[in-house]
Amino acid sequence: IIEIKHVNKYFGSHEVLKDIDFSVKKGEVVTIIGSSGSGKSTLLRCINLLEKPSGGEIMYKGENILDEKHDIFTYRRKLGMVFQQFNLFNNHNVLSNCVVGQVKVLKRSKDEAEKVAMKYLKIVGMDKYVNARPNQLSGGQKQRVAIARALSMEPDVMLFDEPTSALDPEMVGEVLKVMKQLAESGLTMLIVTHEMEFAKEVSDRVVFMDKGVIAEEGSPEQIFNHPTQERTREFLKRTL
Ligand code: ATP
Ligand code: MG
Repeated sequence: IIEIKHVNKYFGSHEVLKDIDFSVKKGEVVTIIGSSGSGKSTLLRCINLLEKPSGGEIMYKGENILDEKHDIFTYRRKLGMVFQQFNLFNNHNVLSNCVVGQVKVLKRSKDEAEKVAMKYLKIVGMDKYVNARPNQLSGGQKQRVAIARALSMEPDVMLFDEPTSALDPEMVGEVLKVMKQLAESGLTMLIVTHEMEFAKEVSDRVVFMDKGVIAEEGSPEQIFNHPTQERTREFLKRTL
């Protein structure tokens, strides 16, 4: 569904992504692992065009969305994004957080948007908190609302950038559990994570990034149990 060809990205003269080639198929769960500064977030940000790649192609359903003629708003709408910092609207309650985007961007009626929002709040286990404000919620609860908000837009692909890194340890599990459930439901997901056990369990494919390149990619079994690259082995030794 997304295919990246020869993407590179410079910040000034610093080449942060070097000739990246990879793809995510419909229904696939792909996790990206790698050390701090290896370019994981930059890659996600290029995919949703929060950053403009310096070169290469990003194909979505067979079309290069970096083409001038391509409407990037239509494309962006097909991607859901969940960040480390939840980025909820603090002046809106939980339900409204999941409704405003649908009404503004998708032009859904308020009634319809609320129905959709409730469906996803139920899935993440936050339907009991519709009237709460974000500042009344724990980190894990906020992140589950952020996931429900992204899902309410009914994207084709969900992108996650270290969704549990800002959480207290005791809240990591509840968010990973929701993500695991989504993965099993057939949602297409691209996840940057430091949670290796989770990556091992849910991924169809694991991508290991090192210094701006994809050093190795393969099944969880290959990457975690039989890595072929020395750099992958070293990274895993440091993290496990
Ligand atoms: P982490 O695990 O710490 O989140 P990461 O793999 O997500 O790391 P990136 O955030 O993609 O890494 O950063 C890759 C490199 O690009 C780093 O050297 C970083 O300093 C640099 N970088 C990222 N964003 C910018 C920016 N807006 N301007 C300049 N340099 C940047
Ligand atoms: Mg990052």
